[in-house]
Amino acid sequence: MSENNQRIIFLSEYEDIFICPICSHPVKVMDLRSLICSNHHCFDISKRGYVNLLSQPHKTKYDKKLFESRKVISQSGYFDPLIARISENMLAELEPAGKMVKILDAGCGEGSHLSDIQQRILEQAQCDSLGIGVDISKEGIDMASKGPSKAIWCVADLANCPFADKQFHFILNILSPSNYSEFHRILADDGMVIKVIPGSKYLQEIRGIFYKKTARSVHSNENTFELFIRNFDLVDTQHVQYSVTLDHKYKEQLIHMTPLSWGAAEELIQQVLSNNKLEVTFDFTILLGKKMNAPIIWKSMIYEA
Ligand SMILES: [Zn+2]
Repeated sequence: MSENNQRIIFLSEYEDIFICPICSHPVKVMDLRSLICSNHHCFDISKRGYVNLLSQPHKTKYDKKLFESRKVISQSGYFDPLIARISENMLAELEPAGKMVKILDAGCGEGSHLSDIQQRILEQAQCDSLGIGVDISKEGIDMASKGPSKAIWCVADLANCPFADKQFHFILNILSPSNYSEFHRILADDGMVIKVIPGSKYLQEIRGIFYKKTARSVHSNENTFELFIRNFDLVDTQHVQYSVTLDHKYKEQLIHMTPLSWGAAEELIQQVLSNNKLEVTFDFTILLGKKMNAPIIWKSMIYEA
């Protein structure tokens, strides 16, 4: 059986995670080609095995080049300290061996973070996980579905999540927009939301060159934080900060993986590229939240596979 067909069969094993984004009815995989609801709303499954649940195509500024660049930066290990910290938080809540935990990466882009986190969980807890990566960008999901990981990938709008209620033990939301009412609906009662936002020093060296003396030269998280604590009980806030000297060959990818470059003048981009030894700060804030008044019965968050 082809690898692509295996992915579609894997998707059909977990079809009950999904609901129709138009009428909220349950859906079924039909003929390994589409996901169809009882009201006959039909969504294509691509040859590569991901499903497109958008009712109309959506254009984003996150293009193929951005995702390719982010994938290269991820694979080169520049996000490893962040990924390690997220995984540690998850591992602290898991039971060992033989159980499966459902993880949604909301705004997964090209899928590297979810794949890396699943790998760490498998290695360190021998705990099997089902990863579901969702992004509104078809380019991102198309790239994610090329990877070998044990995950289901889908194109969908977070404002209208195509998932049944209370499905997920973890919702990851890494450097990506949120939809908290939908997160509430699809998160298990004792599940956890892990949101990562850029810290004030995130890529400050590049920000400083591109946006000297303007408001964009400093990043502020005040509103994001306020909105989070209005929606979830804040369990913990963690800061992960580290500096790296960027290898020459990764400079271009670093610039292209961030929306920071969108408004920057070409001469300033060249200035960054011509800098021989570019020191770059990675700075993240991790917000860990649970539903308000969530029961503290962590063991019930794992279901038998
Ligand atoms: Zn429907």
